[in-house]
Parts: sequence; C-alpha cells; structure tokens
Amino acid sequence: MGNIIAIDAGATNLRIALIDGKGKILSRLSSVTDGPNLLRQLYEGIDAHDAFEGIAVAFAGPISRKTGAILKSPNLGIQGLNLVGLLEKKYGKKAILMNDCVAAVLAEKYYGAGKDCDNLAYVTISTGIGCGVIIDGKVLLGKDGNAHEVGHMVIDQDSLLRCGCGSYGHWEAYCSGKNMPRYVGHLIKTEYAGEPSALSIGRKKAPAEHLFAVKGDRVASEIIGKIGMINATGFANIINVYDPELITVGGSVALKNKRILEDIKRNVHKYAINRMPEIRLTSLGDDICLYGAAAGFRYFG
Ligand SMILES: [Zn+2]
Repeated sequence: MGNIIAIDAGATNLRIALIDGKGKILSRLSSVTDGPNLLRQLYEGIDAHDAFEGIAVAFAGPISRKTGAILKSPNLGIQGLNLVGLLEKKYGKKAILMNDCVAAVLAEKYYGAGKDCDNLAYVTISTGIGCGVIIDGKVLLGKDGNAHEVGHMVIDQDSLLRCGCGSYGHWEAYCSGKNMPRYVGHLIKTEYAGEPSALSIGRKKAPAEHLFAVKGDRVASEIIGKIGMINATGFANIINVYDPELITVGGSVALKNKRILEDIKRNVHKYAINRMPEIRLTSLGDDICLYGAAAGFRYFG
C-alpha cells in the first residue's frame, strides 16, 4: 500500500495527514473543525500534501458506509453530505468514510494495545462519547456503520437532560465534554441549590477542567462521584453487550482527567455481569484516529 491521506474530522479538531504503508505519519496539518465549511477545509488540507493513493476519513458522527455520506452531525451542524462521492470526483482516487471510533478501534488493533486481541472496544470520552468494537476479529458495523453509538444509550429514561441528538437521558447528555457543564449546572440549580460551592460562584456552567480542578469542595466532589457512577454504568453496558477482553479509553476528557478512568474501574463491577476485561487508557494519544483512518483504508479497502 502506498501513501494515503488520513483525515480525523472530529467535532473540535480537524487533522489531515499523509501516512505511509507502514503507518508512519509523513506530514500533517491540524486546525479547528469548521462544520459548515468542512468540505472547503478538507480540500485545502488535502491539496497541501504530496501525492497519495487514496483518502480515508474518520468522522465523529453518524455516517452511511454504503453511500459514503455523513448522515447528520448535531455537534457540527452537518446533514446529508455525500463526502466520499465528492472526494472521489475531485481527486480521482479511492475514498472511504468511517466512524471515528471504528477507526480508533482499528488503530488499536493494528498499531496499539489490541494487536493480540480478537475482542476489544475503544471508548472515547471527548466532545461526545463514542465507541468502536471488534468482536471475533471483525469490526462491528450494523446496517449503516453505526452499530456502537454507545453515547446515546439511555441511562435514565425519566431524564430532563436533552442530548445533542435531541433525545433524553442519554449517557452523552451527562458525561461528554460538551454536555457535562450543563449537567453540573442542572445539579447546582436543583439538588445542590443554595449550597456553598466554588462551582456556583460567578458561573452557570463549569467546564470539565474546572470541575475536576476544584479541591476540598463537597459539592464538586459529590458531582464528580455521580459522573463516575454514570460512566461506570455506560462501561458496564458495553461489557454486558460486547464481552470484550480489552477496553481502551481515549478522548480529551478521559485523557486529561485521570479520575474519570479511576471511577469507572472502581465501580463498573457493580453493574457488569460478564467477566471483567482489562480497561486502560490508549497509548496512541491524539493521533489515534489518523492511525485508525490508515488502518481502515487497509481493512475496508
Ligand atoms: Zn443522544
């Protein structure tokens, strides 16, 4: 396999790299993802690199593997974009589109901790919450390629918290980087109304970093505990449904706040019925979806 363009189109960051057949990044560009102008950003980023054999895009949101289209991305304001068709027409090369977490779990299998595993899952806790799953050595896809949208698992059917997808009570509505501040604000206004806390001074919303940085604050500590239990519920659901031997965890919220994984590991056994898998942070860091796009070009191409 020759060099390919690997693209990680995340809800926050857009990374475009040229990767060789052995998975080495030869050149790269990164910028902030501009949803409405994504196509122009991709063209400019691709044009800035040397010759390539194909294009592989890992996208953070629901896609159609068959049509190569982005179905809708609530986090980026994109709906019905025929990305593969447009890229193939413009460059005359093969292009493929995959969910970013499918890419990430393939990166783990080809280049990371999952080399010797046939049953593994990758979970990202970032702007959103997503998952990629390999079972019996095969990537789990589903009819459109979204068989693992774990962030939209219902964890509270009575919830008043609305998820970015429009529905209620989803895991992501509580614990993703984008929605966690809203959950914290909701708790401050309801369960902890009138209680002294650094979280309620001068701000309605507390970014994840602020919540986890507050020391000696009972309200913050209890809220972190609640988030930990919800994350443990989500992981237990993944273990119960997919029965993986390894779960690797990435995404900026999980990578920056070690407490997130600690709370998951401490509490997940309370809800899981299957034998515990190994659960660890990914070693592939921020580039996991670039490696994953390259791995996906091999796997799907
Ligand atoms: Zn949702």
